[in-house]
Amino acid sequence: MKIIENPSQNIWSELIKRPLQNYETIETTVKLIFKEIATKGDAAVLKYTNLFDGVKLTDLKATKEEISEADQLVSAELKAAIQLAKRNIESFHIAQKTDPVAIETMPGVRCWLEKKPIQKVGLYVPGGSAPLFSTVLMLAIPAQLAGCKEIVLCTPPDKTGKINPAILYAAQICGVTTIIKSGGIQAIAAMALGTETIPKVYKIFGPGNQFVTCAKQFATQFGTAIDMPAGPSELLVFADKTANASFVAADLLSQAEHGKDSQVVLVTTDQLFLNKAVSEITKQLENLSRKAIIKEALQNARFIYLEKETDALDFINEYAPEHFIICARNAALFTEGIQNAGSVFVGNYTPESAGDYASGTNHTLPTNGFSKSYSGVNLDSFLKTISFQQITAAGIQNIGESIAVMAEAEGLDAHKNAVSIRIKTIQNEANGD
Ligand code: NAD
Repeated sequence: MKIIENPSQNIWSELIKRPLQNYETIETTVKLIFKEIATKGDAAVLKYTNLFDGVKLTDLKATKEEISEADQLVSAELKAAIQLAKRNIESFHIAQKTDPVAIETMPGVRCWLEKKPIQKVGLYVPGGSAPLFSTVLMLAIPAQLAGCKEIVLCTPPDKTGKINPAILYAAQICGVTTIIKSGGIQAIAAMALGTETIPKVYKIFGPGNQFVTCAKQFATQFGTAIDMPAGPSELLVFADKTANASFVAADLLSQAEHGKDSQVVLVTTDQLFLNKAVSEITKQLENLSRKAIIKEALQNARFIYLEKETDALDFINEYAPEHFIICARNAALFTEGIQNAGSVFVGNYTPESAGDYASGTNHTLPTNGFSKSYSGVNLDSFLKTISFQQITAAGIQNIGESIAVMAEAEGLDAHKNAVSIRIKTIQNEANGD
């Protein structure tokens, strides 16, 4: 845990760096696996599943029997919790439907937009260190609401070759059409390229570790879109003296437990609070089951004291956190001033866990500073917008001259002709020629 007091602006660029990721080595592996899957298909996916997940599979697709067996294995209590989360996520994502846009830009010139679902989507559900069945809800619910026809889900199998029953249960209730037992680079490559068993998709969604994130970025070279770079989790908390140190410590620990490459940051304007939060973390850590992972992640943690709230806000916008919790009396300064964050949690009673599971917002969010330019997953992520236009005979006469002048100025005669030929025909018809 690094404590930094009043860092001057010229070291901020150092402080906003995420834990070092050796992308060069990963990229070499990614390229190799893509190449092999392109030529050997399922056989290569099975080979790498054996290598990285330590399990020899014969079949990549989850069977109907496995899915119905999972239904028996998930407790009634967990099913009820998943159903509650599903309802909230559905409500929040249905509310994101927008009204159609249709206007007449000038008489006889009608323009409109229509949103259409992406027909084939691939959902990646992490399963390396924890089976994130909550990610199934976060991705499959908006995919289904958007009307995506083919929803393929990939997740790593456990050492016995099985998928966690809660993942299978969630996939089944959220309309996933194909469930594949494959994770990491090989799953992303298979969804980008297609194999005998794994359908090629148009867009890949979902968080994952650095191997998954690197593979997703590489997949774009094959014409597959991706939601965003959603890598190792991160959380930044801003707290003033009105914050509760136990709550803040619990939140920071909750993100640190994702993986050793997760990063948690506390920014505070109160030195006393900083000390209290650090000792709370040490205390609470002792009782957590993923203590070893958290300890490693805490090596990347930063505890920053800044005297002024406005400096704190500037620093947070530079850091561009995936998750941003505000525990401060002057919360409005931060809710109004935040420019770069994946998802914001306001007030002492809004833990990040709520957004991770059940409040309704999506937990698939941009990391590594990408919240400066990317949004988290939402309903629109699963839709494309197509523009339409229809011009009447009167309309082409109203707009035609301007188009012709502009086309001529760009030296594009054929463009000009496509308009003038129509105007001429209208004029000839009017003249009875
Ligand atoms: P994962 O499913 O992302 O990765 C596991 C896979 O990694 C394995 O199946 C294996 O194929 C591959 N792998 C492991 N070691 C490898 C190696 N040496 N070479 C090549 N491939 C290898 O699961 P995870 O590891 O638990 O990671 C989940 C990640 O997702 C965490 O980092 C967590 O912070 C992040 N996350 C992010 C968000 C977000 O919205 N950004 C949300 C939830 C979770």
